[in-house]
Amino acid sequence: MTTPFHCLSQLVYHTNEDCPQGKTIEAGDRQQGKGGKAGCLCCYHLNKAQQKNGGRYGIIKRLLTEKQQQTY
Ligand SMILES: [Zn+2]
Repeated sequence: MTTPFHCLSQLVYHTNEDCPQGKTIEAGDRQQGKGGKAGCLCCYHLNKAQQKNGGRYGIIKRLLTEKQQQTY
């Protein structure tokens, strides 16, 4: 769990540095805080999985990465 951050071009804020969507934010576009946006679902699941155990986290991270690649 990290300090919430967001960027103007996304509708959600992120709370996990490993979020594939959060990683697409360039350093210059990154804003601190929630920006009045909804919480990112990827981050929610990443945080939840990281709290529980590392095994599930690996699976979820791979699924998220595959999903991200489809949007390219
Ligand atoms: Zn996120």
